[in-house]
Amino acid sequence: MLGGIGNMAWLGSATLFILSLRGLSHPASARRGNLFGICGMAIAVLATLLVTGGAGLEVALGAALVGGGIGAVLARRVEMTQMPQLVAVLHSFVGLAATLIAVASFLSPAAAMSAVERGIHDTEIYIGAFIGTVTFSGSIVAFLKLQGTVGGKPLVLPGRHLMNAVALAVCIALGYVFVGAPDGPYALAALGAMCAIAAVLGVHLVMAIGGADMPVVVSMLNSYSGWAAAATGFMLDNDLLVTTGALVGSSGAILSYIMCRAMNRSFVSVILGGFGAVASTSSAAPQGEVVATSVDEVGALLRDASEVVIVPGYGMAVAQAQSTISEITRRLRAQGVRVRFGIHPVAGRLPGHMNVLLAEAKVPYDIVLEMDEINEDFTNTDVVLVIGANDIVNPGAQEDAGSPIAGMPVLEVWKARTVVVSKRSMATGYAGVDNPLFYKENTRMLFGDAKGSVDALLRQLETA
Ligand code: NDP
Repeated sequence: MLGGIGNMAWLGSATLFILSLRGLSHPASARRGNLFGICGMAIAVLATLLVTGGAGLEVALGAALVGGGIGAVLARRVEMTQMPQLVAVLHSFVGLAATLIAVASFLSPAAAMSAVERGIHDTEIYIGAFIGTVTFSGSIVAFLKLQGTVGGKPLVLPGRHLMNAVALAVCIALGYVFVGAPDGPYALAALGAMCAIAAVLGVHLVMAIGGADMPVVVSMLNSYSGWAAAATGFMLDNDLLVTTGALVGSSGAILSYIMCRAMNRSFVSVILGGFGAVASTSSAAPQGEVVATSVDEVGALLRDASEVVIVPGYGMAVAQAQSTISEITRRLRAQGVRVRFGIHPVAGRLPGHMNVLLAEAKVPYDIVLEMDEINEDFTNTDVVLVIGANDIVNPGAQEDAGSPIAGMPVLEVWKARTVVVSKRSMATGYAGVDNPLFYKENTRMLFGDAKGSVDALLRQLETA
C-alpha cells in the first residue's frame, strides 16, 4: 500500500520536474517553472519519508533543517554576480554526496544479495563514486576559476591527453579489482585509489579549459552532477532519484551542446579537457587610437539615432545598471527611436544571465534578440551601446586566428555607424584577451562605472 502511494507520488514529482524544466526555458514562465520544481521536491521528500516508514526521521529532519538554513542564508547573501560560483559549489556538493553515499553503501550494504546482485551493486557504487569525485573536484576548480582565485588561462601540460587516458585506464583496472574482490580491505583500497585518481582527473580536466570556454564547463559539470545523482539513485534503489538525475544530466548535456554550437567549439573536445585546443599564438597588441567620449556626446548621438542596439555584458550585472537602461530604452522608444537588445549566448557569467536581468528590469521580451537574430542588422544600426561587455564583442575572434577566442561567434557591433562602449578602463574581459574594438575609428569609449554612466545619460536625456 505504502509502496503504491510512494510510486504515485514519485511519478507526480517526476512530472512536476519535467514541467519545471519546461517553465525555466523562458523568462516569462520561469517563476512558474520554479514553483513546479519546489512542489515536486516537497512531494518527493515527503513520499521518501513515508515509504521508509520514518526510519532515521530525526537525522533526515535535522540535516534538512541545518542544510536548508545554510542554503537560505547563502541565497539571501549572495550577490547576483556571485551566482555562477554558487552554482559551481552546489554542483560540487552533489558530486561529494554521490561519493559519500557510494562509500557508505559499500561499507554497510543494505541486505543479503546474490553474487550477481552484489556484482551489479558494486558496479553502481564504483561508477557513482567515480562520477561523483570527478564532479566534486572539477566543480571546486570551476568555483576557484569563476571566483578569480585561479587564473582563466588554460593549463596546457605536455602529454596531458595521454595522462588523462592513463588515469582513466587505471580507474577501469581498479574497477575490475573492486568488483572482483570479496568485500574487504582490497576492495576498499581499490575504491580509495580510484577516488584519488578521479579527483586529480577532475582538477586536470577543468584546469585545461580556457576562460572563454568556462560556460560550457559549468553546464557540463551541471550535467555530471545529474549523472552522479542518477548513479546514486541506482545504488539506493530509488527510482525518483534515477529519473531526476537523468533529467538534470540530459538537460545539462543538451545545454552544453547548444553552447558549444553557439561558440563554435567541439563538444567532445571540451569534455576531454580542451582536446585539440592549441595554446594562444597571438602576440600583436591592437593598433589605433582610443577615443574617449562624454555623456553629453552620447546623449546627442542617441537623440539623433533612429536605430539603436544595446549589448549588455558582465559589467552591467556588476554595476546593476539594468533598471536605468530599461528606463533609457522606454524614453528613447517614446521618442520614436527603435531600440533593441543583442544577447550573446555566453554574455555575463551564467547561461541566460542577461535575459534574467533584463526581465527583472521589465524590458519587453520582444525587443531582446539572440545573437543570430541581430547580427545582420548592425550594418543598419546608428548607435550600438555596449554596456560592460568585452569578449562577446571582440572582433579578434574573427580577425586573429591565433587568439584564444578565435572562431567564437561574436556580436559584430563594429559594423554599426557608431559604437559606444561603457566600461571603467581598458582592462580585458574574462578571457584575458585585448579587444581591437576599442581602437576602431567608429568606437567611442565612455569610461566609468556603468551605473554612474547610464544614470548620467538618463538625466541628460530627461533634461535635453
Ligand atoms: P567580459 O568578462 O568579457 O567583460 C566584462 C567587462 O565589463 C570587463 O572588461 C570590465 O571592464 C567591464 N566591467 C566590469 N565591471 C564594470 C562596471 N561596474 N561598470 C562598467 N564596466 C564594468 O564579459 P562579457 O559579458 O563580454 O563576456 C562573458 C565572458 O565570460 C566570456 O568570456 C564568457 O565565455 C565568460 N563566461 C561566461 C559564462 C556564462 O555562462 N555566460 C560562465 C563563465 C565564463 P572594466 O574592468 O574596464 O570596467
